[in-house]
Amino acid sequence: NAFIDAIDKANPHLNAYVVTTPELARERAKQSDAKRAQGKAGALEGAPLGIKDLFCTEGVRTTAASGVLGEFTPTYESTVSGNLFRDGALMLGKLNMDEFAMGSSNETSHFGPVVSPWRRGNEDSKLTPGGSSGGSASAVAADLCLGATATDTGGSIRQPAAFTGTVGIKPTYGRCSRWGIVAFASSLDQAGPIAKTVEDAAMLLQSMAGHDPKDSTSLPNALPDFRAATQRSIKGMTIGVPEEYRVDGMPQEIEDLWQQGIAWAKDAGATIKPISLKHTKYALPAYYIVAPAEASSNLARYDGMRYGARVSGKDLNATYENTRASGFGAEVQRRILIGTYVLSAGYYDAYYLRAQKVRQRIAQDFRDAFGSVDAILTPATPSAAFALGEKGDDPVAMYLNDIFTVTANLAGLPALALPAAVDKQGLPLGLQVIGKALDEESVFAVSAALE
Ligand code: GLN
Repeated sequence: NAFIDAIDKANPHLNAYVVTTPELARERAKQSDAKRAQGKAGALEGAPLGIKDLFCTEGVRTTAASGVLGEFTPTYESTVSGNLFRDGALMLGKLNMDEFAMGSSNETSHFGPVVSPWRRGNEDSKLTPGGSSGGSASAVAADLCLGATATDTGGSIRQPAAFTGTVGIKPTYGRCSRWGIVAFASSLDQAGPIAKTVEDAAMLLQSMAGHDPKDSTSLPNALPDFRAATQRSIKGMTIGVPEEYRVDGMPQEIEDLWQQGIAWAKDAGATIKPISLKHTKYALPAYYIVAPAEASSNLARYDGMRYGARVSGKDLNATYENTRASGFGAEVQRRILIGTYVLSAGYYDAYYLRAQKVRQRIAQDFRDAFGSVDAILTPATPSAAFALGEKGDDPVAMYLNDIFTVTANLAGLPALALPAAVDKQGLPLGLQVIGKALDEESVFAVSAALE
């Protein structure tokens, strides 16, 4: 009830939830009380969560923050949200996001931008909570839920976490099933939690993750005890610091944040090792070819026939065109155009194939580095949160936000963002800890030591 009241009060301003489900939540809470009384409480029994509106929820409208999905109401539950409910968690509602998870500021949502609960000094300007999981980050930061689901294709869990002083982890590609999550770029998409603490994130991921035969890229590996990993000492561990992440024009406060993290890791008994990830500078261009290419293919299904909204025309093609022209926002249309272009005959070799090769080099850089380090420490973002509207009409400036986060997606590695400092105006800044494939345990151990 406290969370439902808090949402009623703050959501008109923050716009974090696009749908609230208070009756459903109260009903589930009663069931949780009953289970608890019988001594049958699950690991997350009664925990009130927000669900990003990219996860299909049975009987509850799911929009991916796009007009094209209209009133689409799934008849099935995504594996990840289903796993959380299996363990006793309950849903307070569906969280706002960038349309189809394309964006870094939540300004591409069909439902309008999410507002961050943070303020820059005593300025009035509204700040972005980041994107695309801005609703998840804003809701967790403003105590409108205990934790939230989110997804990360190029940084959409970690950048919003860094902007709002929360913790977000993108696990190894394949840890969480993608079944029932609206697809953006299937080879990069991963679900993960946004939470208040590293331990909460570990507990949520424990429930969300696990093999699912319904997703052919879901990993069969057994899940380690993530929460136990947060208690592990990092004494004797080696942590890599990649020189290439010291990018041009990086503000001093980000450099200071990084040095602070390095000092804390040393205090906790870790050894710091400078490393080189040579192909880092090609990561952003490669990502912004691969992601739109896959998106252009995935979004072909929104044709006005199968799901949601339809705007009829004089014939079938006109219906497709009308539906897409009115249903998709500007950023989504831009991605479809870029993706279709880089996949077209004559350009495929020059762009898409080359980006795939770069992707392999980036993954190889990481494998080489992990030959001598246990984890990698970097800043999560190149700046603190910016004002809504500040980068709205400059897509390239917006894409530069993802400079530190896209590498982990291209290489499929687990990476966590945690709050570690505040800038001069009191805004949170986040560190990022990247681990080897399937080694979320080291990521959790290092992150908990830095928390
Ligand atoms: N900001 C990136 C993009 O716009 C990443 C989005 C995401 O991770 N879903 O593609």
